[in-house]
This record gives sequence, C-alpha cells and structure tokens, in this order.
Amino acid sequence: MKNILSSASESPGTEALLILSTITGMTKERILLSFENKIDDELSKQTLESATLRSNGFPLQYITKKCYFYGLEFYIEEGVFIPRIETETLVDLALELIDRENLRTVVDIGTGSGAIAIAIALNSDCEVYATDINEKAISIAQKNAQKQGARINFLRGAFLEPVKPFIHKIDLIISNPPYIPTTATLPKDVLAEPHDALFAGEDGLDFYKQFFKEIEFIKGKHVMMEFSLEQRDQLKELCYFGNISFFHDQFGKIRFFHIKI
Ligand code: SAM
Ligand code: GLN
Repeated sequence: MKNILSSASESPGTEALLILSTITGMTKERILLSFENKIDDELSKQTLESATLRSNGFPLQYITKKCYFYGLEFYIEEGVFIPRIETETLVDLALELIDRENLRTVVDIGTGSGAIAIAIALNSDCEVYATDINEKAISIAQKNAQKQGARINFLRGAFLEPVKPFIHKIDLIISNPPYIPTTATLPKDVLAEPHDALFAGEDGLDFYKQFFKEIEFIKGKHVMMEFSLEQRDQLKELCYFGNISFFHDQFGKIRFFHIKI
C-alpha cells in the first residue's frame, strides 16, 4: 500500500495509516500494534481501492472525510472545497479588525466547508452569517457548525443576494472566493475539487468584478478577501470606490486585501 501511495504522496507511510484507520475504524496506534493481524477481505479491498484513488491524485481529505482549519477538525466530502492553511491568516486579520473597530455582524461569502465563518464565530462575539451557491457546501458547513457548537445563519445564493434584505446591519464582508484563471495548469488533487470553487474566468477576476459592482454603493462597510498576488494591479483599478490595502499570509506572500467602502 505504501508503494501504491508513494507516487502521489510525500508521506506515504502516514497516509497509508490514515486510510487504514478510516476504513477499519481502528486508531493509528492500534493498527501499528496489530500490524501482523490480517484485515478481512472486504476491508482489504476497500483499502486498496482508496489507496489507488489516492495514487491517482484524489485528495486524502476526501478519503478520510476530515480536514483541519484554525485548530479545528472539519468534516469534508468530495464536492466541497478543502480549506487551505494560508486562509487561517485571513481569519487572524479579520479577528484583529473586528476587535479594533468593534464590529458586530459578519458575513462569509462562499463559505465552503464553513471554515472561515466557524473560526470567526468561535473566536469573537459577532453575529455570523455564511453563504454559498453550492447546496452541498451549505449542508456540510451546517454539519460542521453543529459539530463545533458555532451559531451561524446559513443562506444559499450568489454574491450578496442572500444578505441584501439586511445588508445595512452587516459590518464586515469576508470572502475567499474563486480566483484561479481558467487557463492555469493545476495539480490533479486541486482539479478534483469543485471547479466553481476555484476558477473565475480567463483572468481569475470574474468573482471580484461582479462582487465589486454589488458593494460599490454600500458605504461604511469593511471587506476582507483572499486573492492571488498577480491580480494586485487589476484589483486596485477595479476598486476605485474605496481604500484598498494589502496583507501577507504566514509565509510572507501578499494574499489578502482590505477595503473600507
Ligand atoms: N471559504 C471557504 C474556504 O476558504 O475554505 C471556501 C472557499 S472556495 C475557494 C470558494 C467558495 O465560493 C466555494 O464554496 C464556492 O461554491 C463558492 N462560490 C463560488 N461562486 C460563488 C458565488 N457567486 N456566490 C457565492 N458563493 C460562491
Ligand atoms: N489557494 C487555492 C489554491 O491554490 C485557490 C483558492 C481560491 O481560488 N480561492 O488551490
């Protein structure tokens, strides 16, 4: 199994253990202690199938149905974006802003697994809303919020449409939207994620273009978003209506912006 996984993974031994643990329901420690015992044919078939899927570039998190964000364990399934470690800095920046400006109501647009919204709800006193166009994302985010005991209002819809009726009371709009150009070449495991979570037109700016049109006239709000560094100049041009400032992630790469409209 380790041999099968070595083509797709830098740590085939650990991944083999995680896959075995998912399929058998045994802890990693128990598997290591009982490695001489055979597992039954059905489980062994399932394990081999999962290892083969993984070796073809299918993300490990979709096999184990688990991912981690901001020190929390999230449930995840194929069809929903896997949260990235870099996005944790977006949460840090948002929490600092919430504290400094005494912000009370936040919406996470395109919440995916619920990662950003849940981390903010558990680490602030804000009232938190979260939206997504993807129905499966909303149902998995709801499941995660329940698991973490986070109180969040989930709404399905595109861009700001679901929060329009009460936009006046929102202080901070936060989002890690799709921003990859359709022309980009991506690794197999990223391509296994939902494409409407990743791609945003030829220049990767489609989401921001529509989103900026919708926020342009709602004065006094804060916006914090993730983006890709190559898009910085175009974003400055698109954002003629507010002050835009840029922030780097924990690895030193500029990845986030703040707008005060
Ligand atoms: N916020 C999550 C995170 O950081 O892990 C998910 C981010 S993922 C890159 C982008 C999410 O935005 C996906 O869940 C996708 O379904 C959603 N999305 C894409 N277009 C959208 C739109 N027009 N309105 C609302 N959500 C959208
Ligand atoms: N940073 C993600 C990646 O490299 C893309 C996230 C996004 O489009 N918001 O796969």
